[in-house]
Amino acid sequence: MQELKDRILRDGIIKRGGVLRVDSFLNQQLDVGLIDRIGAEFAKEFGGSGATKILSIEASGIAIAFAMARVMGLPLVYAKKHASRNLSDDVYKSTVYSFTRMSNTDIYVSKEYISKDDKIIIIDDFLANGSALSGLVDIVNMAGAELIGCGVVIEKAFQGGGNALRERGIRVCSLAKIISMEDNDIVFE
Ligand code: 5GP
Repeated sequence: MQELKDRILRDGIIKRGGVLRVDSFLNQQLDVGLIDRIGAEFAKEFGGSGATKILSIEASGIAIAFAMARVMGLPLVYAKKHASRNLSDDVYKSTVYSFTRMSNTDIYVSKEYISKDDKIIIIDDFLANGSALSGLVDIVNMAGAELIGCGVVIEKAFQGGGNALRERGIRVCSLAKIISMEDNDIVFE
């Protein structure tokens, strides 16, 4: 998606350890118009797939998945990162290693929101080593639902998570695929 790539080149900030900051438009301050267009792009990509639900993860996946869900007219379910009293007792739980926090986090989805009859598209902001998407794929599998594929806004291909998922036969669509991010130079595929 050219508009997204141009925005990353203009406003993205490369941090130490292979982290790309895009919080001026995607992760903290949200460019709602751009996110709407990202949602429409994913809706086009997965149009006609027969999806019944979109699954994402808090926090940054939600806005993107929301934009897509609105275009496709589908419900959006998101995994929570904290077990709290407003969560059902009956949950699917998986564990993901957070690349940005450098620690494990348990993620939860109430069983009532995904069933074996669902066909799921997973959406997140970034794909790095693939732990977040793998945790969501685990939850889809636990529910016995069908996984249609995964959509990510930015794939850092040099970290290998995307290819590992593709090798498992999972469809992964990324709107901006970064193949290297060295010397303050972002290179797209
Ligand atoms: P993974 O689980 O694929 O290693 O990492 C994906 C998750 O980590 C995403 O949900 C995202 O929140 C976060 N993440 C990974 N790399 C980056 C990055 O370079 N920048 C930002 N802002 N978030 C990242």
